[in-house]
Amino acid sequence: MITAELSSIAELIQKQREFFQTGKTKDIAFRLEKLRTLKQAIIENETAILQALQADLHKPEFESYITEIVVIKDIDYAIKNLYSWTKPKKSEVSLELFNYSAKIYPEPVGLVLIIGAWNYPFNLIIAPLVGAIAAGNCSILKPSEIAPATSSLLAKMMAKYFDPEFITVVEGGVEASQKLLAEKFDHILFTGGTAVGKIVMEAAAKHLTPVTLELGGKSPCIVDSEINLEHTIRRITWGKFINAGQTCIAPDYLLVDKKIKPDLINGLKKTITEFYGETPYNSADYARIISKKHCERLIKLLDKGEIVVGGENKVEERYIAPTIIDQVSLTDPVMQEEIFGPILPVIEYTDITEAIALINSRPKPLALYLFSQNKSLQQRVLQKTSSGGVCLNDTMMHFGVSSLPFGGVGDSGMGNYHGKAGFDTFSHDKSVLRNSFWLDLKWRYAPYKDKLAFLKRLIK
Ligand code: NAD
Repeated sequence: MITAELSSIAELIQKQREFFQTGKTKDIAFRLEKLRTLKQAIIENETAILQALQADLHKPEFESYITEIVVIKDIDYAIKNLYSWTKPKKSEVSLELFNYSAKIYPEPVGLVLIIGAWNYPFNLIIAPLVGAIAAGNCSILKPSEIAPATSSLLAKMMAKYFDPEFITVVEGGVEASQKLLAEKFDHILFTGGTAVGKIVMEAAAKHLTPVTLELGGKSPCIVDSEINLEHTIRRITWGKFINAGQTCIAPDYLLVDKKIKPDLINGLKKTITEFYGETPYNSADYARIISKKHCERLIKLLDKGEIVVGGENKVEERYIAPTIIDQVSLTDPVMQEEIFGPILPVIEYTDITEAIALINSRPKPLALYLFSQNKSLQQRVLQKTSSGGVCLNDTMMHFGVSSLPFGGVGDSGMGNYHGKAGFDTFSHDKSVLRNSFWLDLKWRYAPYKDKLAFLKRLIK
Protein backbone atom coordinates (compact mmCIF):
# COMPACT_ATOMS: atom_id res chain seq x y z
CA MET A 1 0.00 0.00 0.00
CA ILE A 2 1.66 3.24 -1.13
CA THR A 3 -0.89 5.65 0.17
CA ALA A 4 -3.38 5.06 2.94
CA GLU A 5 -6.89 4.08 1.83
CA LEU A 6 -9.51 6.56 2.95
CA SER A 7 -11.48 3.77 4.65
CA SER A 8 -8.50 2.89 6.82
CA ILE A 9 -7.69 6.37 8.09
CA ALA A 10 -9.01 5.68 11.60
CA GLU A 11 -6.99 2.45 11.71
CA LEU A 12 -3.87 4.25 10.52
CA ILE A 13 -4.26 6.90 13.20
CA GLN A 14 -4.70 4.18 15.80
CA LYS A 15 -1.45 2.51 14.62
CA GLN A 16 0.39 5.82 14.79
CA ARG A 17 -0.94 6.41 18.31
CA GLU A 18 0.24 2.96 19.40
CA PHE A 19 3.66 3.60 17.87
CA PHE A 20 3.91 7.00 19.54
CA GLN A 21 3.04 5.36 22.88
CA THR A 22 6.11 3.11 22.59
CA GLY A 23 8.17 6.27 23.20
CA LYS A 24 10.56 5.50 20.32
CA THR A 25 10.02 8.84 18.62
CA LYS A 26 11.10 10.66 21.78
CA ASP A 27 14.58 9.24 21.56
CA ILE A 28 16.94 11.90 20.20
CA ALA A 29 19.00 9.30 18.31
CA PHE A 30 15.80 8.10 16.60
CA ARG A 31 14.89 11.65 15.55
CA LEU A 32 18.38 12.31 14.19
CA GLU A 33 18.33 9.03 12.27
CA LYS A 34 14.95 9.89 10.71
CA LEU A 35 16.07 13.40 9.75
CA ARG A 36 19.11 11.88 8.06
CA THR A 37 16.87 9.35 6.31
CA LEU A 38 14.68 12.18 5.04
CA LYS A 39 17.72 13.99 3.65
CA GLN A 40 18.94 10.79 2.03
CA ALA A 41 15.50 10.18 0.51
CA ILE A 42 15.57 13.61 -1.12
CA ILE A 43 19.10 13.14 -2.44
CA GLU A 44 18.34 9.69 -3.85
CA ASN A 45 15.11 10.88 -5.48
CA GLU A 46 16.37 14.20 -6.77
CA THR A 47 15.68 13.41 -10.43
CA ALA A 48 12.19 12.11 -9.72
CA ILE A 49 11.41 15.24 -7.65
CA LEU A 50 12.58 17.51 -10.47
CA GLN A 51 10.50 15.53 -12.97
CA ALA A 52 7.36 15.68 -10.82
CA LEU A 53 7.69 19.45 -10.38
CA GLN A 54 8.27 19.80 -14.11
CA ALA A 55 5.12 17.76 -14.80
CA ASP A 56 2.97 19.72 -12.33
CA LEU A 57 4.22 23.25 -12.86
CA HIS A 58 6.77 23.16 -15.67
CA LYS A 59 9.08 24.24 -12.87
CA PRO A 60 12.59 25.06 -14.14
CA GLU A 61 15.27 22.87 -12.55
CA PHE A 62 16.98 25.90 -11.01
CA GLU A 63 13.75 27.05 -9.34
CA SER A 64 13.08 23.53 -8.08
CA TYR A 65 16.49 23.53 -6.39
CA ILE A 66 16.28 26.99 -4.91
CA THR A 67 12.71 26.65 -3.61
CA GLU A 68 12.02 22.95 -3.08
CA ILE A 69 15.12 20.76 -2.83
CA VAL A 70 16.65 23.53 -0.72
CA VAL A 71 14.57 22.09 2.13
CA ILE A 72 17.67 19.93 2.74
CA LYS A 73 19.14 23.01 4.42
CA ASP A 74 16.25 22.99 6.93
CA ILE A 75 17.02 19.35 7.68
CA ASP A 76 20.72 20.11 8.22
CA TYR A 77 19.81 23.03 10.48
CA ALA A 78 17.53 20.80 12.58
CA ILE A 79 20.20 18.08 12.83
CA LYS A 80 22.78 20.65 13.92
CA ASN A 81 20.57 22.19 16.59
CA LEU A 82 18.52 19.23 17.82
CA TYR A 83 20.47 18.66 21.05
CA SER A 84 20.17 22.26 22.13
CA TRP A 85 16.46 22.45 21.18
CA THR A 86 15.55 19.30 23.09
CA LYS A 87 17.57 20.07 26.22
CA PRO A 88 15.39 20.98 29.22
CA LYS A 89 15.82 24.72 29.89
CA LYS A 90 16.41 25.98 33.42
CA SER A 91 13.91 28.57 34.52
CA GLU A 92 14.19 31.24 37.19
CA VAL A 93 12.51 30.84 40.60
CA SER A 94 11.91 33.64 43.08
CA LEU A 95 13.92 33.96 46.28
CA GLU A 96 11.32 32.45 48.62
CA LEU A 97 11.36 29.28 46.49
CA PHE A 98 15.12 28.93 46.94
CA ASN A 99 14.82 25.20 47.67
CA TYR A 100 13.01 24.49 44.35
CA SER A 101 14.34 24.08 40.83
CA ALA A 102 12.31 24.86 37.71
CA LYS A 103 12.82 23.52 34.20
CA ILE A 104 10.97 23.52 30.89
CA TYR A 105 10.90 20.19 29.06
CA PRO A 106 9.87 20.30 25.40
CA GLU A 107 7.85 17.15 24.67
CA PRO A 108 6.33 15.97 21.37
CA VAL A 109 2.62 16.65 21.02
CA GLY A 110 1.97 13.22 19.46
CA LEU A 111 0.21 12.95 16.09
CA VAL A 112 0.59 15.69 13.54
CA LEU A 113 -1.41 16.34 10.38
CA ILE A 114 0.29 18.37 7.65
CA ILE A 115 -1.88 19.58 4.76
CA GLY A 116 -0.04 21.19 1.84
CA ALA A 117 -0.78 23.56 -1.04
CA TRP A 118 0.14 22.96 -4.70
CA ASN A 119 2.45 25.86 -5.51
CA TYR A 120 5.56 24.52 -3.76
CA PRO A 121 4.09 21.05 -3.38
CA PHE A 122 7.28 19.38 -2.15
CA ASN A 123 8.66 22.03 0.19
CA LEU A 124 5.32 22.81 1.84
CA ILE A 125 5.02 19.20 3.00
CA ILE A 126 8.66 18.44 3.80
CA ALA A 127 9.58 21.68 5.63
CA PRO A 128 6.83 21.24 8.26
CA LEU A 129 7.71 17.53 8.48
CA VAL A 130 11.26 18.46 9.49
CA GLY A 131 9.86 20.27 12.55
CA ALA A 132 7.48 17.41 13.33
CA ILE A 133 10.26 14.79 13.24
CA ALA A 134 12.68 16.99 15.17
CA ALA A 135 10.07 17.45 17.89
CA GLY A 136 9.53 13.66 18.09
CA ASN A 137 6.07 13.22 16.54
CA CYS A 138 4.33 10.84 14.15
CA SER A 139 2.96 12.51 11.03
CA ILE A 140 0.27 12.11 8.41
CA LEU A 141 0.90 14.13 5.27
CA LYS A 142 -1.80 15.28 2.84
CA PRO A 143 -0.20 16.86 -0.24
CA SER A 144 -2.29 18.89 -2.67
CA GLU A 145 -4.17 16.86 -5.28
CA ILE A 146 -3.75 19.79 -7.67
CA ALA A 147 -0.06 18.89 -8.05
CA PRO A 148 -0.69 15.15 -8.64
CA ALA A 149 2.79 14.11 -9.82
CA THR A 150 4.44 15.51 -6.68
CA SER A 151 1.69 14.12 -4.45
CA SER A 152 2.16 10.64 -5.87
CA LEU A 153 5.95 10.85 -5.59
CA LEU A 154 5.73 11.96 -1.96
CA ALA A 155 3.49 8.98 -1.23
CA LYS A 156 5.97 6.57 -2.84
CA MET A 157 8.98 8.14 -1.15
CA MET A 158 7.52 8.17 2.35
CA ALA A 159 6.33 4.56 1.98
CA LYS A 160 9.81 3.48 0.90
CA TYR A 161 11.81 5.27 3.59
CA PHE A 162 9.49 5.32 6.63
CA ASP A 163 7.14 2.95 8.46
CA PRO A 164 3.51 4.05 8.03
CA GLU A 165 2.99 4.10 11.79
CA PHE A 166 5.62 6.87 11.89
CA ILE A 167 5.03 8.84 8.66
CA THR A 168 2.37 8.23 6.03
CA VAL A 169 0.95 10.09 3.07
CA VAL A 170 -2.79 10.22 2.47
CA GLU A 171 -3.43 11.34 -1.08
CA GLY A 172 -6.60 12.95 -2.35
CA GLY A 173 -8.62 16.13 -2.48
CA VAL A 174 -11.34 17.66 -0.36
CA GLU A 175 -12.82 14.27 0.57
CA ALA A 176 -9.49 13.00 1.91
CA SER A 177 -8.91 16.25 3.81
CA GLN A 178 -12.34 16.11 5.35
CA LYS A 179 -11.93 12.48 6.43
CA LEU A 180 -8.66 13.37 8.07
CA LEU A 181 -10.05 16.48 9.69
CA ALA A 182 -12.85 14.45 11.26
CA GLU A 183 -10.22 12.60 13.32
CA LYS A 184 -8.40 13.82 16.39
CA PHE A 185 -4.80 15.00 15.91
CA ASP A 186 -2.52 16.72 18.39
CA HIS A 187 -1.56 19.48 15.96
CA ILE A 188 -2.56 20.44 12.43
CA LEU A 189 -0.36 22.52 10.18
CA PHE A 190 -2.29 23.68 7.15
CA THR A 191 -0.93 25.60 4.16
CA GLY A 192 -3.48 26.99 1.75
CA GLY A 193 -6.06 29.69 1.20
CA THR A 194 -7.81 31.71 3.90
CA ALA A 195 -11.26 30.25 3.12
CA VAL A 196 -10.11 26.65 3.56
CA GLY A 197 -8.06 27.73 6.59
CA LYS A 198 -11.32 28.61 8.31
CA ILE A 199 -12.77 25.18 7.49
CA VAL A 200 -9.67 23.51 8.94
CA MET A 201 -9.82 25.58 12.13
CA GLU A 202 -13.49 24.82 12.61
CA ALA A 203 -12.90 21.08 12.21
CA ALA A 204 -9.91 21.23 14.58
CA ALA A 205 -11.96 23.09 17.20
CA LYS A 206 -14.23 20.03 17.57
CA HIS A 207 -11.25 18.11 18.96
CA LEU A 208 -9.55 21.11 20.60
CA THR A 209 -6.63 20.51 18.25
CA PRO A 210 -4.21 23.42 17.98
CA VAL A 211 -3.61 24.68 14.46
CA THR A 212 -0.90 26.46 12.56
CA LEU A 213 -2.42 28.15 9.54
CA GLU A 214 -0.07 29.20 6.76
CA LEU A 215 -2.38 31.24 4.57
CA GLY A 216 -2.07 33.80 1.80
CA GLY A 217 -3.13 37.32 0.99
CA LYS A 218 -1.91 40.35 -0.88
CA SER A 219 1.71 41.11 0.03
CA PRO A 220 2.55 44.72 -0.81
CA CYS A 221 5.88 45.89 -2.13
CA ILE A 222 6.72 49.55 -1.44
CA VAL A 223 9.32 51.19 -3.65
CA ASP A 224 10.71 54.47 -2.34
CA SER A 225 12.84 56.81 -4.48
CA GLU A 226 16.01 56.34 -2.35
CA ILE A 227 17.10 53.06 -3.89
CA ASN A 228 19.55 51.41 -6.20
CA LEU A 229 17.07 51.13 -9.06
CA GLU A 230 18.85 48.38 -10.96
CA HIS A 231 19.10 46.07 -7.94
CA THR A 232 15.52 46.83 -6.92
CA ILE A 233 14.18 45.97 -10.36
CA ARG A 234 16.02 42.65 -10.56
CA ARG A 235 14.92 41.60 -7.06
CA ILE A 236 11.27 42.45 -7.74
CA THR A 237 11.26 40.72 -11.15
CA TRP A 238 12.73 37.59 -9.61
CA GLY A 239 10.36 37.50 -6.59
CA LYS A 240 7.28 38.19 -8.67
CA PHE A 241 7.81 35.90 -11.64
CA ILE A 242 9.55 32.92 -10.07
CA ASN A 243 7.14 29.95 -10.32
CA ALA A 244 5.05 32.22 -12.64
CA GLY A 245 3.98 34.30 -9.65
CA GLN A 246 2.35 31.36 -7.85
CA THR A 247 4.03 32.10 -4.55
CA CYS A 248 2.30 32.93 -1.28
CA ILE A 249 4.92 35.59 -0.51
CA ALA A 250 5.28 36.98 -4.04
CA PRO A 251 5.05 40.78 -4.14
CA ASP A 252 1.34 40.96 -5.00
CA TYR A 253 1.29 44.63 -6.00
CA LEU A 254 3.70 47.56 -6.13
CA LEU A 255 3.25 50.81 -4.23
CA VAL A 256 5.67 53.16 -5.95
CA ASP A 257 6.84 56.68 -5.27
CA LYS A 258 5.36 58.66 -8.18
CA LYS A 259 8.78 60.21 -9.00
CA ILE A 260 10.31 56.91 -10.02
CA LYS A 261 7.34 55.07 -11.48
CA PRO A 262 8.21 55.57 -15.19
CA ASP A 263 11.83 54.46 -14.63
CA LEU A 264 10.72 51.50 -12.55
CA ILE A 265 8.23 50.27 -15.15
CA ASN A 266 10.73 50.67 -17.99
CA GLY A 267 13.34 48.84 -15.98
CA LEU A 268 10.96 45.99 -15.11
CA LYS A 269 10.12 45.63 -18.79
CA LYS A 270 13.80 45.41 -19.76
CA THR A 271 14.59 42.97 -16.96
CA ILE A 272 11.70 40.66 -17.83
CA THR A 273 13.21 40.41 -21.33
CA GLU A 274 16.67 39.89 -19.86
CA PHE A 275 15.39 37.05 -17.65
CA TYR A 276 12.97 35.30 -20.03
CA GLY A 277 13.78 36.60 -23.54
CA GLU A 278 11.52 38.48 -25.98
CA THR A 279 9.01 35.62 -25.84
CA PRO A 280 8.83 34.17 -22.32
CA TYR A 281 6.64 31.38 -23.76
CA ASN A 282 9.81 29.90 -25.27
CA SER A 283 11.87 30.26 -22.11
CA ALA A 284 12.87 27.10 -20.28
CA ASP A 285 13.17 29.29 -17.18
CA TYR A 286 9.54 30.30 -16.94
CA ALA A 287 6.94 28.10 -15.22
CA ARG A 288 3.33 27.44 -16.19
CA ILE A 289 0.07 28.06 -14.32
CA ILE A 290 -1.02 24.98 -12.39
CA SER A 291 -4.29 24.40 -14.32
CA LYS A 292 -6.53 25.81 -17.05
CA LYS A 293 -9.05 26.81 -14.40
CA HIS A 294 -6.46 28.86 -12.51
CA CYS A 295 -5.29 30.32 -15.83
CA GLU A 296 -8.82 31.46 -16.70
CA ARG A 297 -9.21 33.13 -13.30
CA LEU A 298 -5.98 35.07 -13.85
CA ILE A 299 -6.88 36.15 -17.38
CA LYS A 300 -10.08 37.74 -16.04
CA LEU A 301 -7.90 39.97 -13.85
CA LEU A 302 -6.44 41.51 -17.02
CA ASP A 303 -9.75 43.13 -17.98
CA LYS A 304 -9.19 46.32 -16.00
CA GLY A 305 -6.25 48.75 -16.03
CA GLU A 306 -3.62 49.34 -18.70
CA ILE A 307 -1.35 46.44 -19.57
CA VAL A 308 2.10 47.97 -20.04
CA VAL A 309 4.08 44.74 -20.24
CA GLY A 310 2.98 41.23 -21.24
CA GLY A 311 -0.65 40.18 -21.17
CA GLU A 312 -0.21 37.41 -23.79
CA ASN A 313 -1.67 34.06 -22.77
CA LYS A 314 -2.47 30.55 -24.02
CA VAL A 315 -4.99 28.88 -21.75
CA GLU A 316 -4.60 25.46 -23.35
CA GLU A 317 -0.92 25.52 -22.44
CA ARG A 318 -1.48 27.15 -19.05
CA TYR A 319 0.71 30.09 -20.07
CA ILE A 320 0.45 33.72 -19.04
CA ALA A 321 3.32 36.08 -19.88
CA PRO A 322 4.91 38.15 -17.10
CA THR A 323 2.51 41.07 -17.00
CA ILE A 324 2.55 44.57 -15.51
CA ILE A 325 -0.64 46.61 -15.19
CA ASP A 326 -0.69 50.37 -14.69
CA GLN A 327 -3.65 52.68 -14.05
CA VAL A 328 -5.21 50.28 -11.61
CA SER A 329 -8.06 51.23 -9.35
CA LEU A 330 -8.27 49.84 -5.81
CA THR A 331 -11.72 48.44 -6.59
CA ASP A 332 -10.51 46.43 -9.62
CA PRO A 333 -10.59 42.64 -9.06
CA VAL A 334 -6.79 42.54 -9.37
CA MET A 335 -6.61 44.67 -6.20
CA GLN A 336 -9.37 42.78 -4.39
CA GLU A 337 -8.14 39.18 -4.41
CA GLU A 338 -4.75 37.54 -3.96
CA ILE A 339 -3.31 37.41 -7.50
CA PHE A 340 -1.18 34.27 -7.16
CA GLY A 341 0.06 34.52 -10.74
CA PRO A 342 2.40 36.54 -13.00
CA ILE A 343 0.45 39.80 -12.93
CA LEU A 344 1.89 42.85 -11.20
CA PRO A 345 -0.32 45.91 -10.66
CA VAL A 346 1.46 49.21 -10.04
CA ILE A 347 -0.02 51.88 -7.80
CA GLU A 348 1.67 55.21 -7.25
CA TYR A 349 1.84 57.35 -4.12
CA THR A 350 3.10 60.86 -3.51
CA ASP A 351 3.73 60.43 0.20
CA ILE A 352 4.59 57.28 2.15
CA THR A 353 1.66 57.92 4.51
CA GLU A 354 -0.69 57.03 1.62
CA ALA A 355 1.07 53.69 1.10
CA ILE A 356 0.98 52.91 4.83
CA ALA A 357 -2.71 53.87 5.05
CA LEU A 358 -3.57 51.62 2.10
CA ILE A 359 -1.76 48.64 3.67
CA ASN A 360 -3.44 49.25 7.02
CA SER A 361 -6.88 49.46 5.44
CA ARG A 362 -6.55 45.85 4.26
CA PRO A 363 -6.11 42.46 5.96
CA LYS A 364 -2.65 41.92 7.41
CA PRO A 365 -0.41 40.50 4.67
CA LEU A 366 1.87 37.48 4.83
CA ALA A 367 4.90 39.47 3.65
CA LEU A 368 5.72 43.13 3.25
CA TYR A 369 8.54 44.41 1.09
CA LEU A 370 10.14 47.82 1.29
CA PHE A 371 12.86 49.09 -1.02
CA SER A 372 14.48 52.15 0.54
CA GLN A 373 17.89 53.17 1.84
CA ASN A 374 16.27 55.68 4.15
CA LYS A 375 16.63 54.21 7.65
CA SER A 376 13.98 56.39 9.25
CA LEU A 377 11.51 55.45 6.51
CA GLN A 378 12.33 51.79 7.13
CA GLN A 379 11.60 52.25 10.85
CA ARG A 380 8.39 54.10 10.11
CA VAL A 381 7.06 51.35 7.86
CA LEU A 382 8.15 48.64 10.33
CA GLN A 383 6.43 50.39 13.22
CA LYS A 384 3.24 51.43 11.45
CA THR A 385 2.36 48.21 9.64
CA SER A 386 1.81 44.59 10.63
CA SER A 387 2.62 41.58 8.46
CA GLY A 388 3.75 37.96 8.83
CA GLY A 389 7.29 38.93 7.84
CA VAL A 390 9.22 41.76 6.25
CA CYS A 391 12.07 41.80 3.79
CA LEU A 392 13.87 45.11 3.37
CA ASN A 393 15.46 45.80 -0.01
CA ASP A 394 14.70 42.32 -1.32
CA THR A 395 11.83 39.93 -1.96
CA MET A 396 11.17 36.37 -0.77
CA MET A 397 14.63 35.73 0.69
CA HIS A 398 13.42 35.69 4.31
CA PHE A 399 11.61 32.39 3.58
CA GLY A 400 14.97 30.69 3.10
CA VAL A 401 16.53 31.73 6.42
CA SER A 402 16.06 28.70 8.66
CA SER A 403 16.60 30.68 11.86
CA LEU A 404 13.69 33.04 11.11
CA PRO A 405 10.18 31.93 12.11
CA PHE A 406 7.91 31.86 9.05
CA GLY A 407 4.18 32.51 9.34
CA GLY A 408 1.33 34.93 8.92
CA VAL A 409 -0.67 37.20 11.17
CA GLY A 410 -4.38 37.99 11.12
CA ASP A 411 -5.91 36.86 7.83
CA SER A 412 -2.55 35.63 6.54
CA GLY A 413 -2.36 32.95 9.21
CA MET A 414 -1.35 32.01 12.73
CA GLY A 415 1.69 30.30 14.18
CA ASN A 416 5.13 29.80 12.67
CA TYR A 417 7.49 27.12 11.48
CA HIS A 418 11.02 26.70 10.01
CA GLY A 419 14.02 26.02 12.28
CA LYS A 420 13.42 26.32 16.01
CA ALA A 421 9.93 27.72 15.34
CA GLY A 422 9.01 24.45 13.60
CA PHE A 423 10.35 22.46 16.54
CA ASP A 424 8.39 24.63 18.99
CA THR A 425 5.19 24.41 16.94
CA PHE A 426 5.12 20.64 17.27
CA SER A 427 6.31 20.54 20.90
CA HIS A 428 4.57 21.17 24.17
CA ASP A 429 6.63 23.10 26.71
CA LYS A 430 6.12 21.11 29.88
CA SER A 431 6.87 23.08 33.03
CA VAL A 432 8.41 21.01 35.79
CA LEU A 433 8.96 22.35 39.30
CA ARG A 434 11.00 20.17 41.66
CA ASN A 435 11.00 20.36 45.47
CA SER A 436 13.18 18.27 47.78
CA PHE A 437 12.81 16.80 51.23
CA TRP A 438 15.64 18.47 53.07
CA LEU A 439 13.47 21.38 54.22
CA ASP A 440 9.76 22.06 54.66
CA LEU A 441 9.01 25.67 55.57
CA LYS A 442 5.61 25.90 57.20
CA TRP A 443 4.59 29.46 56.36
CA ARG A 444 1.97 28.39 53.74
CA TYR A 445 0.19 25.78 55.85
CA ALA A 446 -2.88 26.27 58.10
CA PRO A 447 -3.44 27.41 60.73
CA TYR A 448 -2.73 30.78 59.07
CA LYS A 449 -2.76 32.71 62.31
CA ASP A 450 0.23 35.10 62.49
CA LYS A 451 1.38 34.14 58.97
CA LEU A 452 -0.48 36.76 56.94
CA ALA A 453 1.91 39.60 57.72
CA PHE A 454 4.83 37.49 56.45
CA LEU A 455 2.90 36.63 53.27
CA LYS A 456 2.09 40.28 52.64
CA ARG A 457 5.78 41.17 52.96
CA LEU A 458 6.63 38.45 50.45
CA ILE A 459 4.07 39.63 47.89
CA LYS A 460 4.52 43.37 48.23
P1 NAD B 1 -6.38 25.47 -0.88
O1 NAD B 1 -6.76 26.13 0.40
O2 NAD B 1 -7.37 25.39 -1.97
O3 NAD B 1 -5.88 23.97 -0.62
C1 NAD B 1 -4.91 23.63 0.33
C2 NAD B 1 -5.14 22.22 0.82
O4 NAD B 1 -6.42 22.13 1.41
C3 NAD B 1 -5.09 21.16 -0.28
O5 NAD B 1 -4.34 20.06 0.20
C4 NAD B 1 -6.55 20.79 -0.50
O6 NAD B 1 -6.75 19.45 -0.85
C5 NAD B 1 -7.18 21.06 0.87
N1 NAD B 1 -8.59 21.49 0.76
C6 NAD B 1 -9.16 22.20 -0.24
N2 NAD B 1 -10.45 22.44 0.02
C7 NAD B 1 -10.73 21.85 1.21
C8 NAD B 1 -11.89 21.73 2.03
N3 NAD B 1 -13.06 22.25 1.66
N4 NAD B 1 -11.79 21.07 3.19
C9 NAD B 1 -10.61 20.54 3.59
N5 NAD B 1 -9.48 20.61 2.86
C10 NAD B 1 -9.52 21.25 1.69
O7 NAD B 1 -5.06 26.25 -1.33
P2 NAD B 1 -4.22 26.07 -2.66
O8 NAD B 1 -5.03 26.53 -3.83
O9 NAD B 1 -3.59 24.73 -2.70
O10 NAD B 1 -3.03 27.12 -2.40
C11 NAD B 1 -3.16 28.47 -2.65
C12 NAD B 1 -3.27 29.28 -1.39
O11 NAD B 1 -2.33 28.84 -0.43
C13 NAD B 1 -2.96 30.75 -1.63
O12 NAD B 1 -3.86 31.54 -0.90
C14 NAD B 1 -1.56 30.91 -1.07
O13 NAD B 1 -1.24 32.20 -0.66
C15 NAD B 1 -1.59 29.96 0.07
N6 NAD B 1 -0.24 29.53 0.41
C16 NAD B 1 0.27 29.92 1.60
C17 NAD B 1 1.56 29.56 1.92
C18 NAD B 1 2.18 29.97 3.22
O14 NAD B 1 3.25 29.46 3.51
N7 NAD B 1 1.58 30.83 4.00
C19 NAD B 1 2.33 28.81 1.03
C20 NAD B 1 1.76 28.43 -0.18
C21 NAD B 1 0.47 28.79 -0.49
